[in-house]
Amino acid sequence: MRIAMIGTGYVGLVSGVCFSDFGHEVVCVDKDPRKIEMLERGEVPIYEPGLDVLMHKNVEAGRLSFTLDLESAIDGAQAVFIAVGTPTRRGDGHADLRYVMAAAEEIARAARHHVVVVTKSTVPVGTNRQVRETVAAANPELDFDVASNPEFLREGAAIEDFMKPDRVVVGVETDRAAQVMADIYRPLYLREFPILTTDLESAEMIKYAANAFLATKITFINEIAALCEKVGADVKQVSRGMGLDGRHRQQVPARRAGRTAGRAFPTDTKALARIGQDHASPVSIIETVIKINEDTKRRMVDKLLDLCGGSFNGKTVAVLGVTFKPNTDDMRDAPALTIVPALVGGGARVRTVDPQGRREGEALLPGVSWMDDPYEAAEGADLLVVLTEWNEFRALDLSALSERMSVPRMADLRNVYSLEDALTAGFTAYDSIGRVGHA
Ligand code: NAD
Repeated sequence: MRIAMIGTGYVGLVSGVCFSDFGHEVVCVDKDPRKIEMLERGEVPIYEPGLDVLMHKNVEAGRLSFTLDLESAIDGAQAVFIAVGTPTRRGDGHADLRYVMAAAEEIARAARHHVVVVTKSTVPVGTNRQVRETVAAANPELDFDVASNPEFLREGAAIEDFMKPDRVVVGVETDRAAQVMADIYRPLYLREFPILTTDLESAEMIKYAANAFLATKITFINEIAALCEKVGADVKQVSRGMGLDGRHRQQVPARRAGRTAGRAFPTDTKALARIGQDHASPVSIIETVIKINEDTKRRMVDKLLDLCGGSFNGKTVAVLGVTFKPNTDDMRDAPALTIVPALVGGGARVRTVDPQGRREGEALLPGVSWMDDPYEAAEGADLLVVLTEWNEFRALDLSALSERMSVPRMADLRNVYSLEDALTAGFTAYDSIGRVGHA
């Protein structure tokens, strides 16, 4: 089986590498020459644990290659995947389909034989039909099928998620497309992971509905966390107590309290809300989730302000972690993008440290100083903020940190430590999410 993968971002590169590891011959295409040059040199342009090893293994086996040239990539391929970005369109909240449609047109012009055009990007309902129309209009002679194959991997655990998915969703219109998709995912069938075959619209809707439901759960527990702080309850215990109820099936995400509903969630929830509005069937719960997410970010900034006595001006703040979660270098929609500018804008000197976030963060967070380790960042600080729970930040010597600080105060926005830990280590103020924390 020969596969072409368009887009070598978080989804395209991981999918391409994993498909080649299944034994397929994969050519990954990107229009960004910098990325292709890096990949050809054996460098991985993103940080994703384990990806480099798997990529090298499959390049060496001759099953995986990279190119800027779509036409050569598509030559002989039975399937071509579109895995390009679908960011929120400025102004109206819709997913921006510009890159998807451009890729569809390029495929149509490059293809010389039957091919299944598979959309892996997250796209609104109706997009696969639009892809079909775009390809047909650009190359009326071409024999092709379309398929929707939304991706559910999480950055930071992407290879595991791809290789051992809870399910694979495939939307098709023809038996021929269903057969090609079944052949591609056959290695997973052998391991008995469920593959759900649906029509195009249902596959597209599953992705948005699944993400919006997760975002709703996270937002729900964030609201409960805010209430816990007021009434003296501990959100961790509350969510555990809720999650033990079989009707909730999976644990309520206490760990996520304070996280403003993930990386793709803002884009996908906004897009779903717009789809609802366009069809005069508003998804009011999702509209509320979007609003609460914004409020949650503001609540985090208010917490820091309280700890700093009402003003950031002239304060030195050490920020541990800027990526939106551990084990990734991705900063899109990260809480740091709201919190750090609020600190800098309020007159604070910000010293940040992140195991992988610096490359992206330097451009996105102007005016901050980058440190090599948390102890260096804490030197002379008036406040320490734990913003991403990287392993490196989970077992810090709190006494060594507090000794280095000018005023030892901690905002533990990931609930890694406890009030008791902090007080014992010499901190004079501590706050976290969803539990009473002030010293
Ligand atoms: P990304 O921005 O990391 O990568 C997109 C890549 O596509 C870029 O390298 C870009 O140069 C390339 N590209 C754009 N147009 C091209 C073209 N015409 N030809 C060749 N290359 C082109 O994006 P991503 O995070 O991998 O997301 C891709 C899609 O997958 C999005 O729709 C996203 O919503 C969805 N998704 C992402 C995740 C995630 O965790 N990142 C998870 C599930 C689904």
